[in-house]
Amino acid sequence: MSISLKDKHTFGCAVAAKEYWEMSSISEAIGALKQWSGVPYLILGGGSNLLFTQPEIPRVLAVRMLGLELLKETKSYVEIEVGAGVPWHPLVMQTLQSGWYGLENLALIPGLTGAGPMQNIGAYGVELRQFCIGVHVIHRQGLKPQFLDAKACNFGYRSSIFKTEAKDQFLISSVRFRLPKVGFHKPNTDYGAIRETLMSKDIDPDMANPLQVAEAVMYIRSSKLPDPNELGNAGSFFKNPIVPIDRVEPLQQRFPQMPVYPVSEGFAKLAAGWLIDQAGWKGKSLGSVGMHKNQALVLVNYGDASGKELWSFAQLVAQDVQEKFGVALEPEVNLWPAQSNEVPIYRLQEKQL
Ligand code: FAD
Ligand code: NAP
Repeated sequence: MSISLKDKHTFGCAVAAKEYWEMSSISEAIGALKQWSGVPYLILGGGSNLLFTQPEIPRVLAVRMLGLELLKETKSYVEIEVGAGVPWHPLVMQTLQSGWYGLENLALIPGLTGAGPMQNIGAYGVELRQFCIGVHVIHRQGLKPQFLDAKACNFGYRSSIFKTEAKDQFLISSVRFRLPKVGFHKPNTDYGAIRETLMSKDIDPDMANPLQVAEAVMYIRSSKLPDPNELGNAGSFFKNPIVPIDRVEPLQQRFPQMPVYPVSEGFAKLAAGWLIDQAGWKGKSLGSVGMHKNQALVLVNYGDASGKELWSFAQLVAQDVQEKFGVALEPEVNLWPAQSNEVPIYRLQEKQL
């Protein structure tokens, strides 16, 4: 009997899995991986970074391993191991309440801990890689549990080995963190929105404690981002493009107000949301699909849109940005099945939008 995935992913599309298994231990996971060796299946966390472009999926393995183990405690830090099925935001709050710091800027990110390393989740200037010291994985073919240290995970900007060289090779069963204790951590309050929110509450951004920063983050996110329980979305649909500086300079001459953030020698990050907004897509919709009115980077399912319609709309936006700015946008959201050029791009007249 097939299982509906409508409530198991945040775009809320009508999708069904022919087979659906939940795994709450490593031995259950190995059993499932063995049985499905050589056939396609999806590993599902909280479904907050997934777009299904087909209405039926053959097989789904939902990761539900729970638990938090304190491995080591020193005067200045703790090391903890967290099950891949632990919901992320409650974990952030639990660490902060325990006096273990660092994850405060990552508050209110939906999903489960096991997916965090996939794209090295990040927000407000902080990334998981700053505090993740490694992950326990099971190789999907070899079925051998192993530990990959942070270096082996090859974390990058919204990226890791799990999205690149080792795509679809591993199931992440737990994640290990080293978190600093009080007196050994200074929260990052560099982002303008965090500074402004703290100051509006009479808190000096340079003196704010991690809990105050988490509260500021939660306040900003709740006031700006659509709640997936009310409006289907998967957060930022596209990654911010990292482009060579020689490509940025001509753009800056044409658009002097364009935000540009240097990231490394010779490269800069552009704000995909700004490009989409300038191209005129912020708040625009077609049928049940659109880019959100407060956040141009968020693709929204306003009702009964299919994954295929959402993907077609996203391609249209990316194509337009490419034509207007010469910048390629790459989806941050994971597509199932993997991206294909077979999905037709809507040919829209400007007046339809
Ligand atoms: P899923 O969507 O279930 O899976 C994502 C991918 O990881 C899929 O390819 C899946 O197959 C794979 N996967 C999941 N679990 C495992 C596992 N245990 N082992 C192997 N593969 C696995 N992201 C950010 O980085 N920063 C943000 O600030 C942010 N804000 C968001 C705000 C909103 C409103 C929403 C809806 C999303 C946001 N996201 C953000 C995206 C998303 O929440 C994160 O990427 C999150 O880590 C995804 O977790 P998940 O459990 O829902 O993963
Ligand atoms: P914002 O503050 O309006 O900023 C727009 C973009 O500019 C962001 O994408 C951010 O890049 C970049 N930026 C802003 N200030 C910066 C600084 N001081 N240094 C470097 N880059 C800067 O962004 P927002 O949309 O409201 O999101 C706020 C934060 O939450 C961002 O970090 C964003 O990544 C994160 N977020 C992520 C998702 C997701 O699904 N991935 C969804 C919602 C929010 P970065 O994105 O690289 O930080």
